[in-house]
Formats: sequence, C-alpha cells, structure tokens
Amino acid sequence: MKEIFIKNLSNKEPTKDITDDDIKFKIPLSTKKKKRKILINNQEFFTNNIPIISGPNGVENRKLMFAVAKELKKNKLKIIRGHAFKPLTFPYRSKKYLESKNQGLEIMDEVKKYFNLNVVTEVTEIQYLDRICMTADILQIGSRNMQNLELLREVAKTKKTIILKRHFGASLRDFLGAAEHILVEGNENLILCERGISAPHTHRATSRFILDLQAIQALKELTTFPIISDPSHASFWAPYVPGLTYASIGANCDGLIIEMHPNPKESAVDPLQPLNFSQFSKLIKQTRKLAKVFNKKIV
Ligand code: PEP
Ligand code: MN
Repeated sequence: MKEIFIKNLSNKEPTKDITDDDIKFKIPLSTKKKKRKILINNQEFFTNNIPIISGPNGVENRKLMFAVAKELKKNKLKIIRGHAFKPLTFPYRSKKYLESKNQGLEIMDEVKKYFNLNVVTEVTEIQYLDRICMTADILQIGSRNMQNLELLREVAKTKKTIILKRHFGASLRDFLGAAEHILVEGNENLILCERGISAPHTHRATSRFILDLQAIQALKELTTFPIISDPSHASFWAPYVPGLTYASIGANCDGLIIEMHPNPKESAVDPLQPLNFSQFSKLIKQTRKLAKVFNKKIV
C-alpha cells in the first residue's frame, strides 16, 4: 500500500529546476546562446560596462527628481529611475505616497530633456502603457508582475528595452518562462534583474529578502542577456547595499539598480532602503575601482 502511494507521487518531469527538455521545448529563446546587443535608446550599454540605474522609488515631486538627476550627472551616470505607477504590498497608501501617474511622467519628461538621461519606469497596467512609452527608455516589469503574462506580452510588443525583475518566490525556470513570453513576441531587448528572494531567515528584522548572488551565476550559464542586480530591494537596508553591490560585481553582474534619495528618512516608501547622496557618491567611487579589476567600466 505504502509502495503504491510513493509510486504515484513520482514525477518524471521535475518542475523546479531547469531540465534539458525545458531548454529544448519550453525556454528555447531565453536560453539560446548567441551574442546579443541590448540597446537603450539605440546605444549599447552592456559591453564591458556596468550601468548603474539609480533614483528614488517614486517620482514624488519635481524638486526630488531634479536633485537626483543632478547627483547622477555629478557621478557621470546615464540612467535615472523613478516610478509614476507602483504596486504596493498593502492597499493602504499614506497621503504622502500617492502614485504620481501622468504628473510623474511629465516630471520625468522634463528631467530627461534637461539632463539628457535615460529613463526607467515601471508599468503596472496595460491601460497606461502608451503614455508610459512616450517617456520611458526602459520599461520595468516589477517582481510582483513577473508572471502577469498579458502585461508581459503587451510590453514586449512596444519593442522598448525591458527590465524584467524576478519574483521573490520564483525559480529560475519560472523566471525564464516569463522572459520567454517577452521573447516570443520578437522583443530581444531584455535585461533580467535579480532583486532578492524569500528565505527562511534574512538576518535582520527589517530585511525582507536575500540577494541571490548564485542566480547571477546560474543565469549567466543559461542565457546571454544582461543580468543586473538590485541590492537595494533585496536587503531593504541601506547599510547592506554597498557590500552587496561589490559582491554583485564580483559575481559578474552586468548592471545594478541602486535606490537613492536626498533625504532617505523622508522617502515616501521604504525609507530604510535608499542611500543618501554622500553614501551614493562614495559607493560609485568604490565600484569604479572594483570594476577596473574586472576590466569593466561603471557607466
Ligand atoms: C522597485 O524597483 O522600485 C521595486 C519595488 O522593485 P520590486 O518589484 O523588485 O519589488
Ligand atoms: Mn523601490
């Protein structure tokens, strides 16, 4: 009796990790080994470069975004991030944190024009996609939407460069399955982002996730898309961000997302997470030295 029960539970096609059959039939495009040029605004960013994408969580107001843009320019960086649309884990938003929506996009338009920066911003719903595309150079699919398959497909059709963030509970099999939904629409301008996963222990009460550095290595084995790392959302805790940034570069990441805010305490969401300007400048200085060790350049 016991034997029969165990027999019925056997699984010839394990569904957690990637098999040779998966590579052949389920994720052939994601795992295709070919040289890729991932373009942002028709510019190549990733060959021997490590772009650092930075900014606050939300486009809270114009003054904030102008201050952040200035800080990026000072550090010779080229990509600013800020979300005008933003899913939150819980439905209650403080008055301080209302999505800035079209107003936020207008602020990003101004910043882009004035500072000549590339803009990353999140897409949460198809209904806003056309307007977001007028502003964004890179569309971010946040981790909570990693398997929002209809959204993925519509975003892919815009032909814009896409950052796909891994859901904190997703295996790499599921992650590349989501990527495949983008690729099957003919959009190969794809950047994959590791941003921390759920784990039984996070070593600190305020840390929600663990940065999965091993995923960077594994994704490099499987794909030829740029793999970027987001130590800010992984650790939730600014003091951990520099160390995890250096570790990500050591793990051969192709880029980074670093959350930054002139006054982190005043940040409308996740105030423990962003670096302030002086922490940020120091981090950039250090990463420049470290990148050199690997014959790469921070841009
Ligand atoms: C973000 O990029 O601001 C963000 C909240 O990321 P994630 O979707 O990874 O939580
Ligand atoms: Mn954030």
